[in-house]
Amino acid sequence: MDILKELERFGCEQLVICRDPASGLSAVIAIHNTKLGPALGGCRMWPYASAELAVTDALRLAKGMTYKAAVSGLRYGGGKAVIIGDPATDSKEALFRAFGRYVQHLQGRYITGIDLGTTVQDMDWIQIETEYVTDVTGSLGSFGEYTAEMTAYGVFLGIKASVGNVFGSEILKDMTAAVQGLGKVGFFLCRYLHEAGAQLIVTDIHEGRLNRVVSAFGARAVAPAKIYGQVCDVFAPCALGGVINDQTLALLKCKIVAGAANNQLAEERHGDALHSLGILYAPDYVINAGGIITTAADLEGYDAAYAKQRVAHISRTIARVFHTAEAQGIAPSASADRMAEELLGKA
Ligand code: NAD
Repeated sequence: MDILKELERFGCEQLVICRDPASGLSAVIAIHNTKLGPALGGCRMWPYASAELAVTDALRLAKGMTYKAAVSGLRYGGGKAVIIGDPATDSKEALFRAFGRYVQHLQGRYITGIDLGTTVQDMDWIQIETEYVTDVTGSLGSFGEYTAEMTAYGVFLGIKASVGNVFGSEILKDMTAAVQGLGKVGFFLCRYLHEAGAQLIVTDIHEGRLNRVVSAFGARAVAPAKIYGQVCDVFAPCALGGVINDQTLALLKCKIVAGAANNQLAEERHGDALHSLGILYAPDYVINAGGIITTAADLEGYDAAYAKQRVAHISRTIARVFHTAEAQGIAPSASADRMAEELLGKA
């Protein structure tokens, strides 16, 4: 792998390779862009098959964080760390403290937090070594699933704004939403949609999570592969990335794609493809920013009520993305990218 070329491909400022044999730490920290402020982004722990895959994942995720923070009006840049390891066996104090020392060396250029495979306990260990960490005990990010709930709240508001754009009214009563993935965010999203009177079609590969949503909200369950072809108003991907691709585009029977999953478009061109099909796409990093907005509010010393107010701004942001897309005759995915790049250009 040509590391410098890879940094150039993602437009990334800095890559820190961390190796501490004593604790077994192997990690990379990608700082994508700090023009708007310190790079904010969680620390993922995953048993990557190779260091190359870990580097590419960190660079891709860090870029996403930069765009997400910029369009959300936050004074933060984007970064991400990935630790190569298995959370079930490698989540140890010495390892996270060694990682914390690397974060401390960066003197605030990067602020870490929870991501896939890491926990509040891990953040508490990191905090022994550095102040540049969120989601520690006592923070908003440590209160049960508050961050996921705020992410779901932002997605819900983004769905309402999308419905308003397509149907002329934001009323969700009797609209049908197909939700893929009923984990932390998907569950809360279903609750918001159910409370607003929407009909739910749902799927998950985890039977317990599926049954919970079916019995709590009267949702209709379908097999994972069947979710794409459901006749519905909104398709909400809340599981994996890359779900809008050449195969699934041919199956979609929805008017809107709006969900929590990161990197929903397999490739950039799939945003244009949705546009050509007349399906409104709410760009993922715009409507799933509730978590980072909450983390930023927490870092600045605000409480949960203030964080929720800030998350509510997602309605306005998504409306602006749609408006610009219409005015410029481009897809919403391109409009969101332009918005983020303009903000970074001005910084
Ligand atoms: P989670 O792991 O709690 O839930 C994901 C769910 O998807 C699980 O229930 C899993 O069984 C299910 N799933 C996996 N593969 C599936 C498949 N092929 N078909 C159907 N279901 C499948 O994760 P989460 O925290 O709810 O996050 C969901 C998505 O939202 C992820 O893409 C995540 O990156 C993104 N996101 C989450 C947050 C947050 O605050 N948690 C913030 C921004 C973005």
